Amino acid sequence: MNRRDLLKFAAATSLVGCATTSTPSKARVVVIGGGYGGATAAKYIRMWDPSIDVVLVERDANFVSCPISNLVLAGYTNMQEISRGYDGLRRHGVQVVQDEATAVDAAKKTVRLARGADIAYERLVVSPGIDFTFGDVAGYEAAQKDNAVLHAWKAGPQTVALRRQLEQMADGGVYILSIPTAPYRCPPGPYERACQVAHYFKQAKPRAKVVVLDANPDVTSKAALFKRAWQELYPGIIEYRPNSKVVAVDPNAMAARTEFDSVKGDVLNVVPPQRAGDIAVKAGIITHNNRWCDVDWRTMESKAVKGIHVLGDATLSATGMPKSGHMANAHGKVAAAALVELINGRAPNPNPVMSNTCYSFVSDREVIHVASVHQYDAGLNTIIPVKGAGGVSAARSEQEGTYGWSWARNIWADMLG
Ligand SMILES: Cc1cc2nc3c(=O)[nH]c(=O)nc-3n(C[C@H](O)[C@H](O)[C@H](O)COP(=O)(O)OP(=O)(O)OC[C@H]3O[C@@H](n4cnc5c(N)ncnc54)[C@H](O)[C@@H]3O)c2cc1C
Repeated sequence: MNRRDLLKFAAATSLVGCATTSTPSKARVVVIGGGYGGATAAKYIRMWDPSIDVVLVERDANFVSCPISNLVLAGYTNMQEISRGYDGLRRHGVQVVQDEATAVDAAKKTVRLARGADIAYERLVVSPGIDFTFGDVAGYEAAQKDNAVLHAWKAGPQTVALRRQLEQMADGGVYILSIPTAPYRCPPGPYERACQVAHYFKQAKPRAKVVVLDANPDVTSKAALFKRAWQELYPGIIEYRPNSKVVAVDPNAMAARTEFDSVKGDVLNVVPPQRAGDIAVKAGIITHNNRWCDVDWRTMESKAVKGIHVLGDATLSATGMPKSGHMANAHGKVAAAALVELINGRAPNPNPVMSNTCYSFVSDREVIHVASVHQYDAGLNTIIPVKGAGGVSAARSEQEGTYGWSWARNIWADMLG
């Protein structure tokens, strides 16, 4: 352990010293996961009630954004542009502990860290994003060795590795992108990726092809706009095959096998089926299909374990609600507001509203969007889309391209600044 690690570990364990043996003097909220949901909740709790201690447990040193990461694959931006540090949260008084949460004891109200310490909480926020069910695709686990098959569905080293594979692929080669059955993280994300890779090929490898194997019966978001972009911008480059669920991969043959046939490629980008992040399994908060966590939308509190609030992709999405960064950010604010009320002995807002906007880059500059508004309905006891609110772009445009970049920089500042 070097000096820097030792200091960080000391900071973590000092939280524990008082935590496991006596009740902290102020209420303490522990947040697991410093992504779109968790970072937002941590910052807003501190802004709305600085008397609450907030400890954020995040395994990575920096935040790396999935939104905009498809542009890294095309070479239109880089990892530095989509990464941010956690100093902004520290300035709000959030105690950021770089470590892995390995277990939750809901009876004792403690979170165990990989380095062996326990942190006590009054309320716990869990926003771990997704993990993959690799076992659903035969051969995938073995194929991960040497990066033979990549998903790049968590922005980071796999994004860089996939970009390298695309650069190294010969002109005339085939890039295969496989999409799992919905629900998965970011409904329009794969179709945006197909556009970005096709745009890169159009400039750098004009004889190369993109084959999209979609387990779903049709494009799951902004279908007409994406299909128009494929026809008008990338004729002969993108081949879209619906109802093509990839059930196995063979890295030796460089093939993806669907239920009907086997498709050979030079780069295999297989996005596996997903579920709430591993810590949600360990915390016992998964309620649906062994995958997702059902919540009370007024407080984001788990329906399985009291005192634990679940945000972002890990939740069992309500009707019409996408698994998106924008939505996770909204979850974070609803949870922060509710926690401040609950900790201060007041009733939380009975009628929260959340909104979502997803921008997708269909070229290096042109963008399309989808937007929606969601409001809690007491009669139905869930959150539902507000009729007539939201919609999609009339057409792709460069103007929306500037909105797309502004959205990203603003939401990063909102959650981390
Ligand atoms: C290619 C792509 C493009 C996308 N584009 C968009 C877009 O344009 N707009 C949009 O709104 N959304 C987009 N998304 C979706 C968006 O990235 C996710 O919906 C969002 O990240 C969900 O937020 P979250 O807080 O649930 O999870 P995350 O943002 O993934 O955060 C989870 C955090 O928890 C940490 N963590 C997990 N487990 C532990 C543990 N046990 N201990 C410590 N730390 C832990 C992780 O390291 C991570 O930092 C895109 C996704 C992809 C893959």
